[in-house]
Amino acid sequence: MAIRSVRDLDIAGKRVLVRVDFNVPLLPDGSVGDDTRLRASLPTIRYLLEQGAAVISMSHLGRPKGGPDPKLSLRPVAARLAELLGQPVQFAPDCVGAETVALARSLRPGQVLLLENLRFHPEEERNDPAFAQQLAALADLYVNDAFGAAHRAHASTAAIARLLPSAAGLLMQREIEVLSGLLEAPKKPFGAIIGGAKISSKIGVLEQLLARIDLLVLGGAMANTFLKAQGYAVGASLVEDGQLAVARQTLLTAEQRGVQVILPVDVVIADRFAADAALQVVAVDGILPGWTVLDVGPQTVERIRQAVARCATVLWNGPLGMFEFPAFAGGTLAVAHMLADNPDIVSVVGGGESVAAVEQAGLSDRITHVSTGGGASLELLEGKTLPGVAALAQA
Ligand code: ADP
Ligand code: MG
Repeated sequence: MAIRSVRDLDIAGKRVLVRVDFNVPLLPDGSVGDDTRLRASLPTIRYLLEQGAAVISMSHLGRPKGGPDPKLSLRPVAARLAELLGQPVQFAPDCVGAETVALARSLRPGQVLLLENLRFHPEEERNDPAFAQQLAALADLYVNDAFGAAHRAHASTAAIARLLPSAAGLLMQREIEVLSGLLEAPKKPFGAIIGGAKISSKIGVLEQLLARIDLLVLGGAMANTFLKAQGYAVGASLVEDGQLAVARQTLLTAEQRGVQVILPVDVVIADRFAADAALQVVAVDGILPGWTVLDVGPQTVERIRQAVARCATVLWNGPLGMFEFPAFAGGTLAVAHMLADNPDIVSVVGGGESVAAVEQAGLSDRITHVSTGGGASLELLEGKTLPGVAALAQA
């Protein structure tokens, strides 16, 4: 799908409305907890400023219930953005309305304005054309850099693209390039490491990948269902009993396609679901009744290491264990290191929690691409057309 790039726009002297993904966690004191998403938007904002634009940025934050909510204000985000950009960022206390129009009009080239939370207006999530028109009236051009929101057809991601000359921002472009590149022309051998909580949320991606990969590593709670499907007793582990047939079919398809599958051969089990639980490392045929599998074991990690070392490309989605409990983060951290420490592998990490694990380990700089879109990256890898991307293609 051909979409226009921000680099194709004639920007000098224009007011550019940029949809960014500033949906960041806020701390109890109201300040920004993790500014990864802000930093990810800087290249596009800086590019626009260097080209002589006045930048009007807009985003959603959290899930306000149909109206303004002071706890979900973007005002603290404006302050952090100003720090990161090294220049003032003005703040509009509403994303539309007379005051905002006046602020936008008075904005000079090189200046930045951030609008208040788009979702304070329910019209945003309804993809309301009149609301999109009010946003469009603020600017001359529209740039969408909010990859994390591209799987939603909202006024600021979909309807607006028909109202102004539109283009994808640099982050949006790179996300699409890298992720669709994995489906279109991955460098082989291509391995996928899929973990996390549920098969049901990953099966769409698994189906797409099985036609393209050479190696499939299964971990996380998801692997429990695969183990159970193969006849192992998995104790009190998290299992999706409704997905046993899907698990069997997935393994069968992998075999038919000649995909090497690595399932856990040993696991770390806990006597209860808690950070300070008693733990044991056991073979998969030795999972104790009443105990819960919370991580892959060291022999499994070694198998993964050897298989990953043969890959040219690795996609990783979903933690291999309950990494939020440090005692059960071993498999997840080992995989993060395998990818970060091997400069010959094109490594792509997507998914909310897997990305959080990589960030926590301080390894994201050494991964080829860490996606900023959890849901959006999964939908793209499922081969779906994202509404926010389609809107740019039509423009
Ligand atoms: P991502 O957001 O990276 O796509 P998911 O949302 O699918 O990943 O799953 C992440 C969650 O799965 C994490 O909170 C993780 O701790 C949990 N998880 C992983 N392994 C296990 C396990 N063995 N038992 C219970 N929860 C697990
Ligand atoms: Mg998740």
